[in-house]
Amino acid sequence: MKDDTTIVHAGRKPFDNHGIVNPPVYHASTVLFPTLESWEHARETRDEPGTIIYGRRGTPTTFALQDAMAAFEGADQCIAVPSGLAAITVPLLAFLNPGDHILMPDAVYYPARRFSDTLLTRIGVETTFYDPTIGGGIADLIQDNTRVIYLEAPGSQTFEMQDIPAITKIAKAAGIITMMDNTWATPLYFKPLEFGVDISIMAATKYIVGHSDAMLGTVSSRDEHFAQIRDSAWTLGMTVGPDDCYLGQRGLRSLSARLARHQETALKLTNWFEARPEVDRVLYPALPSNPGHDLWKRDFKGASGLFGVVLKETPKKAIAAMLDGYHYFGMGGSWGGFESLVLPTQPENFRTATTWDPAGPTLRYHAGLEDSDDLIADLEEGFERLSAAR
Ligand SMILES: *Cc1c(COP(=O)(O)O)cnc(C)c1O
Repeated sequence: MKDDTTIVHAGRKPFDNHGIVNPPVYHASTVLFPTLESWEHARETRDEPGTIIYGRRGTPTTFALQDAMAAFEGADQCIAVPSGLAAITVPLLAFLNPGDHILMPDAVYYPARRFSDTLLTRIGVETTFYDPTIGGGIADLIQDNTRVIYLEAPGSQTFEMQDIPAITKIAKAAGIITMMDNTWATPLYFKPLEFGVDISIMAATKYIVGHSDAMLGTVSSRDEHFAQIRDSAWTLGMTVGPDDCYLGQRGLRSLSARLARHQETALKLTNWFEARPEVDRVLYPALPSNPGHDLWKRDFKGASGLFGVVLKETPKKAIAAMLDGYHYFGMGGSWGGFESLVLPTQPENFRTATTWDPAGPTLRYHAGLEDSDDLIADLEEGFERLSAAR
């Protein structure tokens, strides 16, 4: 089955529910058992997929989302967690013990860095941040106690690509677990497990939900690693409300059509930005000018709608004039919804293994599903305001 068919059909069982196309939304804490025998059976099989014993461990609404995502990822199993950040922290806590060491890319999503610097440090796990473009050079950073190599490509503010197969090959040979935050590409454009990654992390809040209205994370793996991930989630009390599971599986159904359009518009906008005199460089691996372009082309099937723009030196009041007057580019965190967004970022503040020394301000744009001519007109007026305010 091809991906476009999988994401439409996986996880749905209409004829288990009166032929109704979408899975029912079960609100549940208590689940009742009519006999001692049925209760004891549920307790004995509580860790098997599909067992319904208590709301926190999931209902058919949860399972519909998890089954669909597992099929989409090419994984054996998936667990839904309450946010993308939880999808990062749950597997890290599943595999790391006091005295262990982890390698994290310097461009990592900032809250993941913060988790390493605070909670992981507190429980005695040491983190080394590495240049995301290190490729096979990762071998030199591996220690006897290295337990996990974390990956994220492209970085969600600076958009460096990583040589995933080179890194997973080295990790496998050394018996080290690899995890990848694949939120940018989604499994439609890159499947981590096919490239040797053990655990695929998704902030489903972004493109899977796709409508800026629910928080959701997923963690997917083969059976070999799954029990430990699930136990970590359950031990921590992670559970997702049924309405958010429902919104996640509903968003998934239209992902392919949405992502193709996000990509088409992002390509138009990034090409337009590249030709502008106000711009120093555009950060988007689908552009041939991008240093990560060859890796992107080799491994990825497409690009999503999120990209960066580094301006030439620009005074703050001119940036404010540009951003404050946009009609369609809303200023705010997150991305992956139907609407266009912009956000000033400060990647230089977080780096420890590399430096980020831009010519001017770094901005992050999300190309939404609006008409691209309208978006370009909005951006063009923005640059006019910027020039007038210099
Ligand atoms: C947003 C984001 C997350 C976290 O997702 P939340 O649902 O907001 O917790 C993780 N990784 C990346 C790359 C993100 O952009």
